[in-house]
Amino acid sequence: MKKIRLVIIGFGGMGSYHVELAGASKDVEILGAYDIDAVKQAEIKRRGLKAYADYEAVLADSEADAVLIATPNDVHKDLAIQALKAGKHVLSEKPVTIASAELEEILAVAEQTGKTFMVHQNRRWDEDFLMVRRMNREKTIGEIFQIESRVQGANGIPGDWRHLKAQGGGMLLDWGVHLLDQLLFMVDSKIASVSADLSYVLGDEVDDGFSSTIRFENGVTALIEVGTTNFIKLPRWYLKGTSGTAVIEDWDLSGSIVKMVDTAEKVQPVPIKAGQGLTKTMAPPHEDAVEQLELPKPDVLEQSLYDNFGDVILGKAEPMIQNKEVLRVLRLIEAIFKAAESNEVVKGFDK
Ligand code: NAD
Repeated sequence: MKKIRLVIIGFGGMGSYHVELAGASKDVEILGAYDIDAVKQAEIKRRGLKAYADYEAVLADSEADAVLIATPNDVHKDLAIQALKAGKHVLSEKPVTIASAELEEILAVAEQTGKTFMVHQNRRWDEDFLMVRRMNREKTIGEIFQIESRVQGANGIPGDWRHLKAQGGGMLLDWGVHLLDQLLFMVDSKIASVSADLSYVLGDEVDDGFSSTIRFENGVTALIEVGTTNFIKLPRWYLKGTSGTAVIEDWDLSGSIVKMVDTAEKVQPVPIKAGQGLTKTMAPPHEDAVEQLELPKPDVLEQSLYDNFGDVILGKAEPMIQNKEVLRVLRLIEAIFKAAESNEVVKGFDK
């Protein structure tokens, strides 16, 4: 069967990486690419891909079924709308747009044209996240009521456009969109409230990190943090459940689970000397009160994102990333900006 032929728009870091990522897809193939930068255009030719003189040439190419937009964030909307109007399907990089109103504009055009529009929220396929999702579903540590999800580096904001507000720079839009998408994909509840702090340690006009507490109506609380000035980092995930605690240290999937055994109340902890005092409260649990478990294998999602995109176009599958979910994440991002700017708790936006 014929594969869906994609043209990559923007052949920078992520655009060129899509050539490798999509290579394993059985439903989608990369036909060519276009970039406004001459050096990138030469790279497209060197890699044996079909090169286009301009975007109009891509849209006029009857061999191209879809475009994959991997440009800076501020131009996603216009490129997507032009492509949909030209009869192409669209897979857009995250964050799909800088504001939720822009995504609504794209979705209206997708509706009018009947073309498929999806967003590359690829971190739903991350194995660390799929382990957490499984622990949540299987209640490995009881009901998870506190989720801490962090990514922290020490290299500042990368590149050029990510420093600029007008181009949709900053870490909340860049990494925040991934962590928030994972959170909302896992917690089955409406958001009750949001509080947040953005950091501007590097002196840029955009945030170089943030910390946000998100409270859900079902009682789950999440702390989401992104940092680019952390020379010592905290674990990728820290989870508290009603019967245990789990830590995933990093993308290498190292970590552990410590869980209470059923007879835990029969064995009391031994007080320890802590600093200048003595404490039983903060002593480690008695060794007979807990067991150490291996982290579970990650959940398996039924399709790759590319295959799903292809099958959605062919009418054979529902999108694994729903546009209404992407819109909800953008509205959460807007609530986080508002909470940080006003120093207030923001409610009532997750209808
Ligand atoms: P980049 O700066 O490395 O590359 C962007 C490229 O787009 C550049 O080569 C630039 O010349 C080109 N470009 C700019 N305007 C264009 C236009 N109008 N038409 C054609 N080309 C144009 O940036 P990047 O790191 O590759 O990020 C690109 C997008 O991919 C962003 O939206 C980013 O958030 C996203 N991204 C996603 C992931 C992920 O894991 N999903 C990872 C990295 C980046």
